[in-house]
Amino acid sequence: MKPSEKRIAKGLWWDRNWPVLEGCTPCSPACDNCFAAKYAHRFKDSLPSLRGLTNQEGKWNGMVMICRDQLKLPSTIKKPTVWFVTERSDLFHPLVPFGYIQAVLTYAAMAPHHRYMILTKRPERMAEFFQWMNSESTYSVETLQDCFWFGVTVWDQASADRSIPILCGLQVAHKFISIEPMLGPVNILRHCNREAAAHSRFRPVPCVDLVICGGESGHEARALSPEWVNFLRYQCTDAKIPFFFKQWGEWSHQSQADFTSSPFTALSSRNAMYHVWGDGTRSYRVGKKAAGRLLDGKEHMEFPGESECAQ
Ligand code: SF4
Repeated sequence: MKPSEKRIAKGLWWDRNWPVLEGCTPCSPACDNCFAAKYAHRFKDSLPSLRGLTNQEGKWNGMVMICRDQLKLPSTIKKPTVWFVTERSDLFHPLVPFGYIQAVLTYAAMAPHHRYMILTKRPERMAEFFQWMNSESTYSVETLQDCFWFGVTVWDQASADRSIPILCGLQVAHKFISIEPMLGPVNILRHCNREAAAHSRFRPVPCVDLVICGGESGHEARALSPEWVNFLRYQCTDAKIPFFFKQWGEWSHQSQADFTSSPFTALSSRNAMYHVWGDGTRSYRVGKKAAGRLLDGKEHMEFPGESECAQ
C-alpha cells in the first residue's frame, strides 16, 4: 500500500495524520524550526486540542496532550490509508505512558487494512517500550502485524550512528529512515544494506524498507546540499532501498536550477539571500514552491509496495 498518487505528487509519504497526541519538546537540532509547533500556535484558538501547548514565541512548551478520543479513528475509515501516527508529537515522548502507546498499537491492529507510519526522534525510548511490551504477557512484539512501520528521524552522521542501529535491532516487520531536515552528509550503509542482507549467508545484515529525505522550509530554513542528497541516493541505489526525495525546501542550489530563467530571475532578484558552500557554489533562497523536488532534473519518489519490502 502506498499513499495516494495525489499525495505522492505533493511530496508527501502519508495520507492522513492520526492525532493520538498533540504537543512535544524539542530534542534535537532538527527540531529548531519545528513546523508542528508553528501550526499548533497558529491554530490554537480554533482547535481545542492545540490549546496550551506552545509559548509566546510559538515554540512547544513541553506539554503533551493525550487524545484518547482519536483512538478509534482508523477503524472508522474503510479505505486503506497510510497514516502518520501523530504528526504533531512523538509517540515515544517521555511523557507518554507505555500503556497509552500500547493502546495506540492495539487500536491500530484492529484496522490492519491500513499502514501506520510511526516516526520518532527518541529511538532509545522506542527500544525501551519494545522491551517493556515483550515482558508483558498479553501482547508480544512478534505479534505486531505487517501494517506497522517504525522509523527514526536522523539529520546528520552522529544522529544516524546513534539511531539506525537501534532501529535495526527492533524485531518489527518494517523499518524506515527519515532524513528531514537533512543537515549534513549521512552514511547509512555502515548500518543497513538490503543488497548485502540478501546475499549474506553467515552474518545477518540489517536493512530498511524506505529512506525519506528532504530539506527545510520556513523562515529560518537551513540550506540543503545536493552533494549530501546524491550521496544518500547513490547509497540507496546500491543497497536497493527505495529513496523518496520529498523536497529541497526553501533553498535551491545553482546546480539544480537555471537562475536566469523564470521563475528564478524574479525570485532571486527580489530575494538576494544566498548560502555559499565550501566549494564556492551557492544555494539561493527561492522558496519551497520554486525550489521543488527535482534532483538533477528528475523526481525520486520511490515508495515500496508490499512485494518490494525488505523482509
Ligand atoms: S520531535 Fe518532531 S514534533 Fe517534536 S519538537 Fe521535534 S520536530 Fe517538533
